[in-house]
Amino acid sequence: MKCPFCGGFDNRVIDSRLSAGGEVTRRRRECEGCERRYTTYERVEEVLPLVVKRDDRREVFDRMKILSGLRRACEKRPVSEELLEKVVDRIERELVDAGDKEVPSTHIGEKVMRQLKDLDQVAYVRFASVYRSFKDIREFMDELSTLLDRGAERPPERPAAFAPTRTEPKERV
Ligand SMILES: [Zn+2]
Repeated sequence: MKCPFCGGFDNRVIDSRLSAGGEVTRRRRECEGCERRYTTYERVEEVLPLVVKRDDRREVFDRMKILSGLRRACEKRPVSEELLEKVVDRIERELVDAGDKEVPSTHIGEKVMRQLKDLDQVAYVRFASVYRSFKDIREFMDELSTLLDRGAERPPERPAAFAPTRTEPKERV
């Protein structure tokens, strides 16, 4: 490791610690030339699979592509950029964990949809309609109604806001 101050190559590690999640090792080093200190970070190189497109072409996995698809689907929806980044992180993590050399693009699309479904239903339908390129309107409506059925099973989000306010009976003096 080259010293950022003097460019010397000799240094010694004076402290080494693991990040909270254990993904990163942080090393404090001291240059043996100028004696100044600097920090280096070491992490495992993530091996992401190649993406196999519908037309059989292979492409390098590109998180920006997924992110921009998500942004488009979530336009004007109450979903933060931070949440979208988390969705992509989770998908990346799943792909790395699976350890496959190649993964069909459709497989990634399904993963995205599964996560969007829980995040924002409007965004989900938008993404699904673009991504799945439904063969006909009927297929799309089927998907939509399945989704709506699922939604109906859920309890209302803010029942308290709609509950009638109860007035306490006043104590008689
Ligand atoms: Zn130095």
